[in-house]
Amino acid sequence: MAAPASSSASSSKLERLSATSRTKDLTDSDSEDMVLVAAHQEAENAKYIKSVTSPLQDLLSTQTWQVQEETLEAVLPYLEGNPNDFDLNTFGIPKLQRIQHVRFLNNALQKYPAAFMAIDASRPWFLYWSLQGLTALGQDISDYDERVVYTFAASQHPSGGFGGGHGQLPHLAATYAALLSLVIVGTPEAYASVNRSTMYSFLGRMKQADGGFTMALNGEEDIRGAFCALVALSLLNLPLELPPDAPVREQGLTSFLDGLTDWISRCQTFEGGISASPGQEAHGAYAFCGLGCLSILGSPKDTINKHLDVPSLLHWLSSRQCAPEGGFNGRTNKLVDGCYSHWVGGCWPLVEAAVGKGIANRAALGRYILSAAQFKKGGLIDKPGKRPDAYHSCYNLAGLSAMQHEHKYDETKSGEVGKEGLGGPYHWQQDGLYGGEKVWDDDDMLNRVHPVFIVPWGKAEACRGYFEEQGSL
Ligand SMILES: [Zn+2]
Repeated sequence: MAAPASSSASSSKLERLSATSRTKDLTDSDSEDMVLVAAHQEAENAKYIKSVTSPLQDLLSTQTWQVQEETLEAVLPYLEGNPNDFDLNTFGIPKLQRIQHVRFLNNALQKYPAAFMAIDASRPWFLYWSLQGLTALGQDISDYDERVVYTFAASQHPSGGFGGGHGQLPHLAATYAALLSLVIVGTPEAYASVNRSTMYSFLGRMKQADGGFTMALNGEEDIRGAFCALVALSLLNLPLELPPDAPVREQGLTSFLDGLTDWISRCQTFEGGISASPGQEAHGAYAFCGLGCLSILGSPKDTINKHLDVPSLLHWLSSRQCAPEGGFNGRTNKLVDGCYSHWVGGCWPLVEAAVGKGIANRAALGRYILSAAQFKKGGLIDKPGKRPDAYHSCYNLAGLSAMQHEHKYDETKSGEVGKEGLGGPYHWQQDGLYGGEKVWDDDDMLNRVHPVFIVPWGKAEACRGYFEEQGSL
């Protein structure tokens, strides 16, 4: 095979790789072809990276500038070359390593070493991340159905809500992860295992006089609390009127929604992003929680445009995409990290439903995830040099799925489910596959994910339908 012209532009990184990798030891003609293909591809990738690198360099050396430089040094070899020796797709990008990721996530659902006892309270999260990751990869998780229901039956607190495990106090983060896991399982047994009456009472105790929600009794009040509470209220079809024993009734509040949209508006910062609570720094995960709240409260077109400054939100969100890395960071002046593929990437379908179009570079994010965020032995990561975990696996995959699919919000709210009471998130429709520039083949496609709940497509509607049939409390 003749060497393509562009291979002469091969970067020094290729020379370094060739000198150290197994290609050096291969001597037959087939392997020469492999080297030439790799050289051609690396030159193409390097050309692309150069095209998206700003020519303006900040010459002031600071600590953050230095760690950014170190990060680029760690990431670029993966964006230009193929240090993991993955098979490449037709775009010259590493294929989705589906089998290895499935193995990693199945393993994440098995027993843990004793050292993990320190994060026992996060058990609901490990279940949710692993189950969601597996379903995104197209896996049938029904073998886990009974175990999931059994685990969460033990962690449901007698006073309502879920704790991290048996005997642990209820917390909205554990409640969110437990509910989503049960929604993914999606059997009548899973739905029926939730005690809606005590959950309603627990959520009433989390409501605060200024409109927000705390994560736990006497715990921190932040936008995660508001989002997790709305997710539970909506999926379980609970009344919006506060329970009679909700403490904030003494301050004159009567509804879970009292003061909430004003409180969310106050979480938008001068930068345009959304913070944990009024006066804090804008952050990608809080932005998703804030936009998720508004997308549960109604049509994103109505709620996001009404309660947020959308031009400044768009400016802040689009500034989260790192160039030349292609992935997202979570805050101003921070580093690219694969989990923001969802926390920031997942904001885009909600914003697109509000303003009609998005301005994220989907191909660039796909390139980062497939090239730099896949761990060689399976599982996905923050960035090269980090270890894989279920959290980064789940959210890299959710972000990639959001980039691959189009979603449309049905403003007419047709359909049987979600006609009233926080029914907003049950009117999303499939709108085909993303038709713009992409870097993934059919083999790299992930299953469609619900843009608000981050569960498999159709599962949120099925859960809500079940609880609508159950009627009010
Ligand atoms: Zn991360």
